[in-house]
Amino acid sequence: MSDCIFCKIARGEIPCAKVYEDDKVLAFDDIHPMAPVHVVIIPKNHISTLMDVAADKDDIINHLTAAAQKVAKIKGVDASGFRVAINCNAEGGQVVFHLHVHVLGGRKLQDELG
Ligand code: AMP
Ligand code: ZN
Repeated sequence: MSDCIFCKIARGEIPCAKVYEDDKVLAFDDIHPMAPVHVVIIPKNHISTLMDVAADKDDIINHLTAAAQKVAKIKGVDASGFRVAINCNAEGGQVVFHLHVHVLGGRKLQDELG
């Protein structure tokens, strides 16, 4: 059993402000939002980084993208616009090593890609 923080959130051991959930993913408000809308979407199964996604047989990226669309609609930023980002490894800014997608919106985003 993983003691990864996002695994604990997926198992309900750490509370979160849930935005969306299905059998494969869970989306919740980021605890340190960088925009009025800042949601993190995680696969329920532990995958450490984007580099650990098996591109040939894993549909999790499609599923995360579909979930990002749903989150954007739930948060009301689908028409105004939003940003989807995946940080990978240290120089990519990844702090939590459980794959996650950031959905940012609710204000005009500048060039904040680092
Ligand atoms: P990253 O830098 O891509 O690894 O992003 C990790 C994100 O997870 C950061 O934006 C954190 O604010 C967020 N985060 C960490 N712990 C929690 C938590 N318990 N609940 C919600 N968001 C969290
Ligand atoms: Zn995990």
